[in-house]
Amino acid sequence: MNRIARVTISLLVVVFGSSRASAGLIFNITNQGGASPQMMTGFSQAAGMWSSLLNDSITVNIRINAVALSPGILGNTSAFFDAYTYSSVRNALLNDATSTDDLSSVANLPSGSVHSMLINRTSNNPNGALSATPYFDTGLGGAGQAGSQNNSTIRMTSANAKAMGLYPANASGSDGTINFTTSQAFDFDRSNGISAGQVDFVGLALHEIGHLLGFRGGIENLISNSTSPGLQDNQLLFLGPIDLFRFSTRSIGTGGGLGVNDWTADSTAKYFSVDGGATSLAAFSTGSQYGDGFEAHHWKNNLGLGVMDPTIVSGELVSISNIDLRAFDVIGYNLTAVPEPSSLVLVGIAGLMGTAIRRRSAANKIGGK
Ligand SMILES: [Zn+2]
Repeated sequence: MNRIARVTISLLVVVFGSSRASAGLIFNITNQGGASPQMMTGFSQAAGMWSSLLNDSITVNIRINAVALSPGILGNTSAFFDAYTYSSVRNALLNDATSTDDLSSVANLPSGSVHSMLINRTSNNPNGALSATPYFDTGLGGAGQAGSQNNSTIRMTSANAKAMGLYPANASGSDGTINFTTSQAFDFDRSNGISAGQVDFVGLALHEIGHLLGFRGGIENLISNSTSPGLQDNQLLFLGPIDLFRFSTRSIGTGGGLGVNDWTADSTAKYFSVDGGATSLAAFSTGSQYGDGFEAHHWKNNLGLGVMDPTIVSGELVSISNIDLRAFDVIGYNLTAVPEPSSLVLVGIAGLMGTAIRRRSAANKIGGK
């Protein structure tokens, strides 16, 4: 594409990027050059939906593009990440706590400078180098604990850090890039449902924006550590805010306890909880390897849980669910309002429809990063 065409497109972006809710989250959207006008409009629509649901006074800068992606991958997101101390993150969540879920989830985070996790596949696993057998890494020393750095570090997207107040709210640098595939027929008009054989573009954009906002943990990085020699526990500085609310009956059981998160790569069921693991609200995917085959920073597939499900199929209308919002709430965002009862009913119906559709058809994966 020549330079003049690019200039023309980026001028168009100013128009699309101006969607802004009063006092809510603002998106600045820039076309990297490949996104079609329909994609720009659809993306702006998706961004507007998030803006209407999250009222943090921050500006999120997103570049979008359309490129060739691997077969079956509809989109992917590359975000900018920064590391923060666990205590600063916990303090930020305490200061930001406005909802019942906020108060409950923060109250169950371990106090002090470290959090405790169940972990596996470290090079210093006491059960053998890179062993799949999990062990408790408390950050307080002991077998398999070369240091507490991974217990005292949280890595998150710059957008998430803005929401927590750990990064300037209106910093102008890019917060990440979202790519959409050029090889899928998209339906850009949700008003009449999604046509058979086409994928809901706005729904896909909602999903990828969700990753950029911070629905991105570190289990996939742990999976990448499974090749010798691998890293020790204290070198695995990839745990994200959403991972603090990832539990299993194992992590809260013998040797662990309430508030101890499950940061393992294996097929054991993991779930989202806002009370330290006592109550499971939704199942997570267990991982691209060693688990169910889906990247771990998603809800469990085919349960109709929400927009952060790992797959979307043609003909399916994808919507942000109540459980999606509860997750964004506890990782540092503030929800605009409690949905009206009628909205809740609609969300429930959408979820059921999604489940039914998925069962009929092989899924196209949504690529996540
Ligand atoms: Zn994804």
